[in-house]
Amino acid sequence: MRFRDLGLQYEKLNTKIDASIKEVLESSTFILGKQVGELEIKLAEYVGRKYCVTCANGTDALQLALMILGVGPGDAVFTSDFTYFASAGTSSILGATPVFVDIDLDTFNISPEALEAAIKRTLEEGKLTPKAIIPVDLFGQPADYNKILPIAKKYGLKVLEDGAQGFGGNIEGKKACSFGDLATTSFFPAKPLGCYGDGGAVFTDDDEVAERLKSLRAQGKSPTDKYDNREIGMNSRLDTLQAAILLPKLEAFIEYELDAVNKVAASYTERLKDKYVTPKILEGFYSSWAQYTILVKNEEKRKILMYKLKENGIPSMIYYPRGLHSQKAYEWMKLSDKYYPNTSEASKRVLSLPMHPYLTEEDICSVTDVLLN
Ligand SMILES: *Cc1c(COP(=O)(O)O)cnc(C)c1O
Repeated sequence: MRFRDLGLQYEKLNTKIDASIKEVLESSTFILGKQVGELEIKLAEYVGRKYCVTCANGTDALQLALMILGVGPGDAVFTSDFTYFASAGTSSILGATPVFVDIDLDTFNISPEALEAAIKRTLEEGKLTPKAIIPVDLFGQPADYNKILPIAKKYGLKVLEDGAQGFGGNIEGKKACSFGDLATTSFFPAKPLGCYGDGGAVFTDDDEVAERLKSLRAQGKSPTDKYDNREIGMNSRLDTLQAAILLPKLEAFIEYELDAVNKVAASYTERLKDKYVTPKILEGFYSSWAQYTILVKNEEKRKILMYKLKENGIPSMIYYPRGLHSQKAYEWMKLSDKYYPNTSEASKRVLSLPMHPYLTEEDICSVTDVLLN
C-alpha cells in the first residue's frame, strides 16, 4: 500500500493527462503557455476569488504574498507552531520574525485564544510590530477564520491563508483559499491537488495586487516592458507542463476525488473512534483530507504501531515530529516547550495514515485491523 497513491490516480486519468502533456510538447510553449492562464481562471473560479496567480511552489507563493503585504525587518508574523516549515521560513527570509502560536489539540489548527494572547504579548514587549497572521489549514481542514478574522481586525493585522493543505476544504460553503486578504496553495505532488513536480498559487480579489504578483513572479518586470524592472522580484512561475497536468486533475478533484477522500475518512473514523482520538472536523467545516491523523496514547505506543503497520506493508507518517519553536533554525529564540503544550503533546502522539481518493474499503480494513489488534 502507498501512503498517497499517485500511480492509481494516473491509471485512471492517463489518457487525459498524456494528451494534455502532448499538446504542450507540440506547442513548445513551456513557460507561461496558454494552459497556465486557463488554469488560473479555473482555480480562481473554483475557490471564489477574483484572481489566481500561479508560481513555482507553495513556499514561493507564501513569499510573494508576504512581499505584497510589505512584511520586513521589525515585523511580527504570527503563525501556527504546528505546521510545515515554509509557513514560518518565508517570513524569516524577508527579514521579519515569525511568532509561533500554539494549536487547538482537537483540530491541530492555530488556537484563536493563543493567537490573541501572542499578539498582546508582542505589543507589550514592544520589540516587534505585529503585521500579519498566517493561519494554516492543516491536514485539509480550514483554520477557524470565524474567530481569527475578527482578531485580525481588532489589532489591524493582515491575514494570509496558507492553504497548501487546505485546497478543496470549506467553511459553510466558503472555500479554502478565499479567506483573509490573500491566500496561497501548493501543488506539490502529495497535496490535495498535486502536479508532477513543484507548483503553487496565490489568490487575491484585488486587481492591483494580482498585477503586482504577476510582475513579482517575473523579476518585478513592468507589465509593458519585460526589460524594464520596476522592483525586486523573484523568478517563480508554474511550468506550462504542470498547468497542463493540473487541468485534468482539477476536474477529477472536483468531480469525485474530494468526495472519495471524505468517504475514506468517514470509514477510518467509524472503525477507529472507540480506540483512538480520531480527527475532529468542526461544525460547518469540510476537510479536503490532506492527511488523516489520529492521536495515539504516547510516543512509545506510536513507535510500536508504526512498526506493526510497516510489518504489514502499510506506510504511516509523523506530521509533525516537532513544533517550529523547537527547530534548530529557531533555536536562537530560546522558546521552551512549556509555551506550546498542545504542539508538544501533538508531536509526540500524532500518527498519519495512508490517505488518498483511491483507497478501497479493503485497504482501509487492512490498516484498521492492524491498529485494532
Ligand atoms: C507543503 C506546504 C507548504 C509549501 O509548499 P511547497 O510547494 O512544498 O513549497 C507551505 N505550507 C504548508 C502548510 C505546506 O504543507
